[in-house]
Amino acid sequence: MDLGIINGAATALHLVRRGIGRVVLVDKHLIASGGTGRSAAIIRQHYSNDELVKMVKRSVEVFHDFDDEIGGDCGFVNTGWAFFVPESVASGFERNVAMGQRLGVEVREIDHDALLAIEPRVAIDDVARIAYEPGSGYANPIQTTHAYVQAFVEAGGILRPLTSVTGVDASDSRVRGIRTDQGDIAAGIVVNAAGPWADRVAEWAGVRLPLDVTREEEIIFETAAQGGPPRLCFSDMAAAFYYRPHGPTQMLVGRGYPKAYETVSPDDYRAEVDVPFIEELKKLLARRWPCYRDAIAVNSYTGLYDVTPDWHPVLGDVDGLDGFYLCAGFSGHGFKIGPAIGELMAELICTGRIEELSLDRFRLERFERGAQLTAAYGGNRA
Ligand SMILES: Cc1cc2nc3c(=O)[nH]c(=O)nc-3n(C[C@H](O)[C@H](O)[C@H](O)COP(=O)(O)OP(=O)(O)OC[C@H]3O[C@@H](n4cnc5c(N)ncnc54)[C@H](O)[C@@H]3O)c2cc1C
Repeated sequence: MDLGIINGAATALHLVRRGIGRVVLVDKHLIASGGTGRSAAIIRQHYSNDELVKMVKRSVEVFHDFDDEIGGDCGFVNTGWAFFVPESVASGFERNVAMGQRLGVEVREIDHDALLAIEPRVAIDDVARIAYEPGSGYANPIQTTHAYVQAFVEAGGILRPLTSVTGVDASDSRVRGIRTDQGDIAAGIVVNAAGPWADRVAEWAGVRLPLDVTREEEIIFETAAQGGPPRLCFSDMAAAFYYRPHGPTQMLVGRGYPKAYETVSPDDYRAEVDVPFIEELKKLLARRWPCYRDAIAVNSYTGLYDVTPDWHPVLGDVDGLDGFYLCAGFSGHGFKIGPAIGELMAELICTGRIEELSLDRFRLERFERGAQLTAAYGGNRA
C-alpha cells in the first residue's frame, strides 16, 4: 500500500516492477491535482550532499530517457539551467560545483560573457558567480505523474483515487493496513508519501514526523510580445527568485530563498496569490529582465511545501514499527528527485538495503540524534 503522488506513484511503480505482490496506490484526490501539479518542476543537479546529487543525477537520466525507462511523455525540455549566486555564498557554491563534477554531473562555472552568449537579454551586473548545467531543464509535473501512474496500472498495480486514508492499523509493533473512507485495506507495508499531510498520517501510526507546511506562490507571464521566454531555467539566488520557460511563449516565475516563509494549514490557506507578491515579482523581473517590463501576468496560483526541520526529506523505515515507511518532507525538491526516490524506496523495501546509495542519513531518527543534514545555502536552496 502506498499513498502519495509523484513520489508515491514512482515508489508504487518500482514496487510492482520488483514483483513485491499486490500494491495499492491511494490518493484522496485525482492524480496530480494537488501539490505535484503545482510544481515549477525545474530539474537542476546542484546540491550540497552526495546523496541528493546522486538522486538527482539518476533522475535526470530518467527524464532524458523517460519513454524507455517509464513509458509515455513527461514533457521534459532540456533547456539547460543556470544558477546565479551572490559573493556571500561563494565558498559553498565552489564546494557544490566541485562535488557535482566529482560525482559525474555535467556542471561548470561560467563567466558573465559566457552566460550572455547563451541568453543576452538578462541583466546580471549584481551576480557574483554562475553555475551552468547543460543537461538540466524542466518537465511537466502532471504529465510525469500520469505517466508513472499509467505504467503502475499497466504493470498490475491497483489505483484508488478519490479515496481518503483515515487511519493506520498497527499492532505488536507492526503495521497491518490502513483505514479509508471506502473501507479498510490490509497491508504488511505502508509507505507514507502524503506530502503536506504526511505528519497526520504518521501520527495515526503513532509516529511523530516534524513537518511545517508553507504556502508558495507562482505567476505565469505571457512573453510572446517580448521575444519569448528565457532560453534556460534559472535559479537566481542573487535576487531570490526563479524563472523558467513555460511552453513556447510563456514564463513561470516564483520566489526562492532567501525569503520569509509563510506557515499554513494544508486544509485552510489562501489559494490566490497576494497582490504585493505580484508587484514585488514584477519589480524583480523588470530589474533582471528589462525586456519583460511590460509582460502580462496570465495565471497565478499557490502550492504547498512540506518542510522538515533541516529542509531535507525523511526517507526509510522507522524504529519500533515494522512495515511503516516514510517518504515525505521534500519542500522544493520532490519533483526532480522523484524518479530516483521511487527506485530507492522500492529497493529498500524489497531488499532491506540499497546497493548504490544509503538512505540512512535521511531516516527520521536523525532529528532525535541531532544529526540533521546541512546545506550550503538555506531554505529551499538546499
Ligand atoms: C510552488 C512549488 C514549486 C515547486 N518547484 C519545484 C521545482 O522547481 N523542482 C522540484 O523538484 N520540486 C519543486 N517543488 C516541490 C515538488 O513539487 C514537491 O516536492 C513534490 O511534488 C511532492 O510530491 P509528493 O508526491 O511527495 O507529494 P504530493 O504531490 O503533495 O502528494 C501527496 C499526495 O498525498 C495525498 N494525500 C494526503 N493525505 C492523504 C490521505 N489522508 N488519504 C489519501 N491521500 C492523501 C494528497 O492528495 C497528495 O496527492 C515545488 C513545489 C511547489 C509547491
